[in-house]
Order: sequence, then structure tokens, then C-alpha cells
Amino acid sequence: DAQVEPDPSKKTLVILGTGWGSVSLLKRLDTENYNVIVISPRNYFLFTPLLPSCTNGTIEHRSIMEPIRTILRQKKARVKFYEAEASSIDPDRKVVRLTDTSEIRGDTTETEVPYDMLVVGVGAENATFGIPGVREHSCFLKEIGDAQKIRKRIMDCVETAAFKDQSLDEIDRLLHMVVVGGGPTGVEFAGELQDFFEEDIKKLVPDISARFKVTLIEALPSVLPMFSKQLIEYTESTFKEEKINIHTKTMVKKVTDKTVEAEVTRPDGAKETVVFPYGLLVWATGNSVRPVVQDLMSRIPAQANSRRGLAVNEYLVVQGTRDIWAVGDCAVAGYAPTAQVAGQEGNFLARLFNNMAKTEAIEAKIRELSSSLNLQPGNSAAVSREIEQYERQLRRLKDAKPFKYSHQGSLAYIGSEKAVADVTWFNGNLAAAGSLTFLFWRSAYLSMCFSSRNRLLVINDWLKAKVFGRDLSRE
Ligand code: FAD
Ligand code: NAD
Repeated sequence: DAQVEPDPSKKTLVILGTGWGSVSLLKRLDTENYNVIVISPRNYFLFTPLLPSCTNGTIEHRSIMEPIRTILRQKKARVKFYEAEASSIDPDRKVVRLTDTSEIRGDTTETEVPYDMLVVGVGAENATFGIPGVREHSCFLKEIGDAQKIRKRIMDCVETAAFKDQSLDEIDRLLHMVVVGGGPTGVEFAGELQDFFEEDIKKLVPDISARFKVTLIEALPSVLPMFSKQLIEYTESTFKEEKINIHTKTMVKKVTDKTVEAEVTRPDGAKETVVFPYGLLVWATGNSVRPVVQDLMSRIPAQANSRRGLAVNEYLVVQGTRDIWAVGDCAVAGYAPTAQVAGQEGNFLARLFNNMAKTEAIEAKIRELSSSLNLQPGNSAAVSREIEQYERQLRRLKDAKPFKYSHQGSLAYIGSEKAVADVTWFNGNLAAAGSLTFLFWRSAYLSMCFSSRNRLLVINDWLKAKVFGRDLSRE
């Protein structure tokens, strides 16, 4: 290794991923206690709650990215970062195999990193349920590249629909934006799409704009199932006003390059197949397990019954392992896969690891004092008092409470400057919706942005879009 050697007196802590879970851990971790190594194919943290706003240019993508090296530079002790994918984890040999999957590669593209302690925070993949055509023809909305691809495609559809001599049927198809999945990702994206259309496309491409249509398809009887009933109704009625077509009880079964085929359950229970021609298809049906996690689970007998990710105990230790913890969307701790949960789990692990290091330091101190007690019996009363003090500190540290998630509420933007919020308020629940909630949504997300640089850029983007309109150039 051409770089600085790890300190042999410290344990090596390897952290996989640079998302909500891992970065929250890094933010609070006292890096002086360990040789910390971060491995992720993405050299930045991404503030996902504003990702849907990047699909139409309300927010520019770099405003919600924070370089991991900037984050690591602020740590007291040096942290190593390798831009690579963890391709496999061997819990017996305690090594992580990593592969450089970026465009530019050196002579070494694969190697191993040994660990004493490992945190898996690799997130999840997009679920497709093996439905044919999804991977080939649709856009996902998880990473920054997905949002950029969608932004390009929306404008490509509009410009292609405006092409000379395009038939009306083809214009209708090209301007039909179909979103599959009525969870918060699908709903927020549909809202952003409608805003783009109402506020910008309509003005700038007026001749064909009447044919622009957004359809949201959901297999369950309603969208946003995690929100309270009144907010679901509010969202559905707002979408109706905005002319977003919602098709619930509609399960997509097949996707081709130009159509989506779905099975609709009618009120009498009868099933019928419907075909939706589309110009842009966005697939937002939730999460599935990443291959590296699947592989690790297959090596641990205690994980045999876990389907949705690494089952962890109340201290976030991966069940059936020692020295491996998991956070965020790849961990199954009994909570929803959200940034809020991942962030709190990361904070919890930082506290746990800081305490573990303190515990070890105190244990060493007690050992040292106890041996001095034997060597210098004259001082015994004072030393015994000191030992007792350390033992009290030790008991407090060892009395660490297990992880408990504290739900602050759910928020979602639904378009036309309206949002829905289910928030916890003085031990009760408060459901709110509308324009004021939208302002709350904006201020809440602004305060959650990673850095003041991000915050400033986001405010700038909001102002820019308001004053000058969104940018329709197709990069
Ligand atoms: P991620 O944040 O996805 O990070 C995973 C990290 O692991 C990434 O850095 C990735 O590059 C890296 N990685 C992947 N594979 C490997 C590998 N093999 N080896 C090493 N590293 C790897 N939640 C909310 O609470 N509120 C919201 O408003 C909200 N809005 C959202 C909007 C969108 C569009 C999306 C997609 C999600 C939203 N979520 C929201 C959910 C939230 O983003 C996730 O729950 C959260 O990102 C999970 O954090 P994580 O650290 O587990 O994973
Ligand atoms: P999700 O799992 O919440 O929703 C996916 C939806 O797709 C489900 O309602 C499901 O019934 C539907 N679906 C699945 N297969 C289908 C098919 N073949 N045809 C039609 N519909 C189908 O997924 P998400 O919206 O991507 O959210 C993922 C996680 O991220 C969740 O935990 C969510 O809470 C979180 N998130 C939160 C926010 C927010 O708080 N504002 C925003 C985005 C995501």
C-alpha cells in the first residue's frame, strides 16, 4: 500500500457505503479510536429527499451531493477512502473483497481489505420483481444519474413529440409519462412532473402541451399507504385536480419499449388487462436486496430465514456474526427503509463505537492501576479509590441502551406547491396538508441538508426556478 500504514495498536473499522447510514456514523464517530476505512462506489453523499426535484431541474444535481473527501477531511484522524464496490464479504477470514467498477481503472482493479469491525451500509437495489422489460425500458429514481437520465428523457419526449409531421397517436404516446409505484417516490416524482408541465412546458411548447399526461399506477387500493387516510384522500383529490391519472388496484405485469401492460382488478373482483402506451416510464416499486448482501446472507446460517436484508439484533449486530453491524436499507431491524431510520442507526453506532473505545481504554487503565497496587502497596487507598471511580465509569458505559427508533414523522411533496405531513407532535400525531405544509416541507428539508454549502445551493436553485423558470435544454 503506497499510503500511510494503519496504526497496529488500533482496530480496523471498515465502513461500506456513503449513504445515509454510513455517513451519519462517520459524522459522529471519533475516528482517532480506530483505523477507519470507507469503501463505496460513490465518492459523495446524496441527499435523497430532494432527488425527485432534480428530475425537472427545480434543483441542480450538484446541490444535493456532498463529496465524501470533504466530509472526511473534517475528521480528527485520517480516514481512508476507496472508491470501489464491495463485491463479497468473508466473515470467517474477516476480509472484504473490493472491485473498482468506475470507468477509469488502474492495473489493480480487485483486492482485499481485512477488518476487525465491519459496518455494512450499502443500501438496497431497485425492485423489479422479475417483471419482463422493466430493466431494459424504464428509468429508476434512486441515484443522481437516474434523475439526470429522466430530465433528459422528459425533454427528449417533448421535442420528439414536437417533431414535424408527428402523428397525433404518436404525440399522445410520447407525451404520456407513466409512473409505476404509488409509494412516496412515485407520488413525489408525479407531482414534480406535473409542476414542470404546468409551470414551464405549457408556456414554452404550447402547441402540443394539451396532450401531456401523467399516469400513476399502483397495485394496492391506494397511493401512499404509510400515510394517514385523510392525507391519502387529500393526495388523491389534489392529483385529480392536477389531472394526474391515478390507477390503483393495477398491477404491472409486462413492459415493452413503448407500452406497459397491467392487470386491473375491477370493483366486482373481475380482472382485466390494460395497455398503456408511454413515452417515459419511471419505475418506483421499492427496494430489493443487493447481491453483496445476498452473498453475505448465504454464508451465515442464522440469516437463512431473512428475505429482505441482513437481520440485526437490537444493537444492530448482524445476527449470526461477530464484529459485523448493518445500518439502513440493507438491515432488517423492524423499521421502514427510510433516511430517517438509517440516519438514527448511524448515529447509534457512532455512539456505540465511541463508547467501546472508551471502555477499552478504561479497562486498560484499571489493569495498569491494579498492577501498580501490587507493586506500591503504600499508596493502596488512593489507587483503590481511583480504580473504583473507573469501575463506575465502566459500568455506565457498559450499560448502553439498545437502538430505539424515534419517528419524527413522514413528509411528502405532491406537486403544485402542496405537501402532506404526518408528524409527531407532543406525543400525538398531527396530519397536515396543503401550501403551508409545503413551506414546512421546504424548511424541514433545508435544515436537514448535509452542509451549509448544500443549503445555499438549494435555496439558490429554488429562487432561480421561481424567477427564471426551469431550464429546458436537453444536455
Ligand atoms: P443509501 O443512502 O442508498 O446509501 C448506500 C450507499 O452504499 C451508497 O453510497 C452506495 O453507493 C453504496 N454502495 C452500494 N453498493 C455498494 C457496495 N457493493 N459496496 C460498497 N458500497 C456500496 N427517506 C426519508 O426518510 N425521507 C425522504 O424524504 C426520502 N426521500 C427519498 C426519495 C427518493 C427518490 C428515494 C430513492 C429515497 C428516499 N428516501 C427517503 C429513502 C432513503 O433515501 C433511504 O432509506 C436511505 O438512503 C437509506 O440509507 P442507506 O445508507 O441504507 O442507503
Ligand atoms: P415503496 O415500497 O414505498 O412503494 C412502492 C409501491 O409500488 C408500493 O405501494 C407497491 O404496492 C407498488 N408496486 C409494487 N409492484 C408493483 C407493480 N408491479 N405494479 C404496480 N405497483 C406496484 O417504494 P418507494 O416509494 O420507492 O419508497 C422506498 C422507501 O423510501 C420507503 O420506505 C419510503 O418511505 C422511503 N421514501 C420516503 C420518502 C418521503 O418520506 N418523502 C420519499 C421517497 C421514499
